[in-house]
Amino acid sequence: MSVFSNVAFDDHERVLFCRDRLTGLNAIIAIHSTVLGPAAGGTRQWSYADDEEALYDVLRLSQGMSYKNAMAGLKFGGGKAVIIKSPDFRASDDLYARFGDFIETLHGDYITAEDVGMSPEIMQSIATRTRFVTGLPTTGGKAGGDPSPKTAFGIFRGIEAAIRFKLERDKLADTSVAVQGIGNVGYHLCRLLQEAGAKLIVADIDPAKVQRVCDEFGARAVGPDEILFCDVDVLAPCALGAILTEESIPRLRTSIVAGAANNQLQTTEDGRRLADAGILYAPDYVINGGGIINVACEFSGDVDDHGVMELVARIGPRLSGIFEESAVTGRLTNDIADEQARRIIEAGP
Ligand code: NAD
Repeated sequence: MSVFSNVAFDDHERVLFCRDRLTGLNAIIAIHSTVLGPAAGGTRQWSYADDEEALYDVLRLSQGMSYKNAMAGLKFGGGKAVIIKSPDFRASDDLYARFGDFIETLHGDYITAEDVGMSPEIMQSIATRTRFVTGLPTTGGKAGGDPSPKTAFGIFRGIEAAIRFKLERDKLADTSVAVQGIGNVGYHLCRLLQEAGAKLIVADIDPAKVQRVCDEFGARAVGPDEILFCDVDVLAPCALGAILTEESIPRLRTSIVAGAANNQLQTTEDGRRLADAGILYAPDYVINGGGIINVACEFSGDVDDHGVMELVARIGPRLSGIFEESAVTGRLTNDIADEQARRIIEAGP
């Protein structure tokens, strides 16, 4: 398995391969950059086709975290970890504790959080061995806990900024929004949109989740194969990455794409395809930064839950700036975000 010639390798500072035979732990921690501060980013627990795919994922995701943290205005660099679920994988408190030991060897250069496949209980097992872990349950108005409602609030503010710019609307009332995936983020987003008077169309591969938002928020359900192609004002992808592709983009019937999923563009050319189709794209790692802002505040401990909401609300004006620069220069919103992130990192803390 090659590291330095991996297509996702981007001068990462450190890559740690973590193996514990006793518990069966196989994990990789990638630190992309600590220029702005300790590398912060979640741990993903996932079944990969092979180790090469796991390495590719962790390298790509950790670079994305550097950009996301920079654009969120955080004093954190970018890192990410993957725990590899092989066929004989057995989850146990001991396995997660051993993973905590590996994080501890990095002496705070990497701070973990929840990502796909993780839970607050697992984070507690990791926390038995290291304090460089967030996403732990909290009480009494302190920052922390499940980041999803904060991510959803950032998406909501981003959608408001997008409709103001693209549709010249000040309010979401009667704006139609198609939400793909109504899991942790999608559910909270639907709640906020419904409160603002938006018309919701939803899809999920889990029928129980669909039923819940139809009952609670009066959403209209469509099939998972249809949701991307609904005739709406806003498409909010909140399920998987790589859904904006050469094949899908010509079939979209939306004015705006603004949602939570990471890595929505399959390739960088898809940003150009969206712009050519007249669709405004809110760069994913800018609009979905609410969760990592929550994580950063939990770790630093100097901002309460109310302060987190204020920081997350800034995602709206940040996106408006990107949209306006795109209109003036003709450059793609995703290119502008990448360049701004690189500039912030190069400028240093
Ligand atoms: P989640 O697993 O709780 O929800 C995802 C939902 O998508 C699930 O309900 C799943 O059934 C559904 N889904 C999967 N495939 C689908 C398909 N083909 N069509 C329709 N629905 C489908 O995850 P989440 O925490 O809500 O995160 C959603 C996305 O946002 C992910 O891409 C995640 O990486 C990203 N994200 C999440 C956070 C956060 O705070 N949770 C922060 C930043 C980015």
